[in-house]
Amino acid sequence: MKRIASVIAIISAVILAFLVISDAITPKQSFSFFAMNTYVSGEVEGGESDNLPQDIEDIIGNLDLKILSRKAEGSFVYDLNKNRSASPDAKMTEYFETLREVCKKSDGAFDFTLGGVSDLWNFSGTPSIPDSAMLADVLSHSGYEKVTLSDGRITLTDKSAVVDFGASGKGIALDSVRDYLETQNAKRAVVSVGGSVLLYGKDDFTVGIKNPFGGNDFAATLTVNECCVSTSGTYEQYFEENGKRYHHILDPKTGYPAESGVVSATVISESGLLSDALSTACFVLGMEKGFDLADEFGATVIFVTDDGKIHCKDGADITIDLNGESFTLVKH
Ligand code: AMP
Ligand code: MG
Repeated sequence: MKRIASVIAIISAVILAFLVISDAITPKQSFSFFAMNTYVSGEVEGGESDNLPQDIEDIIGNLDLKILSRKAEGSFVYDLNKNRSASPDAKMTEYFETLREVCKKSDGAFDFTLGGVSDLWNFSGTPSIPDSAMLADVLSHSGYEKVTLSDGRITLTDKSAVVDFGASGKGIALDSVRDYLETQNAKRAVVSVGGSVLLYGKDDFTVGIKNPFGGNDFAATLTVNECCVSTSGTYEQYFEENGKRYHHILDPKTGYPAESGVVSATVISESGLLSDALSTACFVLGMEKGFDLADEFGATVIFVTDDGKIHCKDGADITIDLNGESFTLVKH
């Protein structure tokens, strides 16, 4: 009897040791690289592939250069803008349909045809205030309703509207990475593509909202479960002239940087595409309409306004901790 008990004890010890060891042999793999015109970084635990970081780099690189970039010759969006019509696959059709919903429900505050207007501002190069007549002309050719999707084809009905995934591509990248991590049975991952972050796995995560007034600190931290978090802010791409800041998030009604009193909008959603597109849309719409838009898509939005206040809806299912006393939290 004593012998059986000690054999069981040894087997139990071996099983326990194996569990601990097997946990320890799913080490974290960290990575960072440049893609989609921004820095990508992260870490991943578990997964069946021998080289998940490289796989992630390939997925995001291909998505950018073969599909979403409007500057990469031969990408789907490049060819669509050039030929004015293209046949999307199932994924691309889904992106277009979802983005059109965001365009419509935001009453055009989100507009995926502002590529020509963004080019005039040239935020990713040497930016300057465009000539107002030229701006008005290019703006008159944009408008999401000039993109139609029927009989399996996307068509641009205006001769010079320019489709641009700048406000949603990073979120789409997060969705693609999440889909891949699922096929790989990865355990946990945090992947950040510019201002959009994927928090993957059954765990609690802490993620910071950058201080939009400058510096490397956070205005607040959020505690969330598995989701995507995207922030659009005036600090990302901007220049200053005569004491005024001109940033890259444009109001499609005017063609000029949106002025809604918001300095950053952070959106939390299960969908990367929605978190990214809605953060841009909510930024342009401002607080009241932005809260309603996020609600319509089952997402949560947190605003930082130019008076140093952080705003969220009362009852939002997240924990917000302020970082120091520079910011105050207002619940609506
Ligand atoms: P994000 O940083 O996600 O807010 O995206 C900003 C980028 O989206 C800009 O650099 C433009 O390429 C594009 N963009 C600017 N304004 C808008 C808008 N109102 N709707 C959709 N895309 C926009
Ligand atoms: Mg965005």
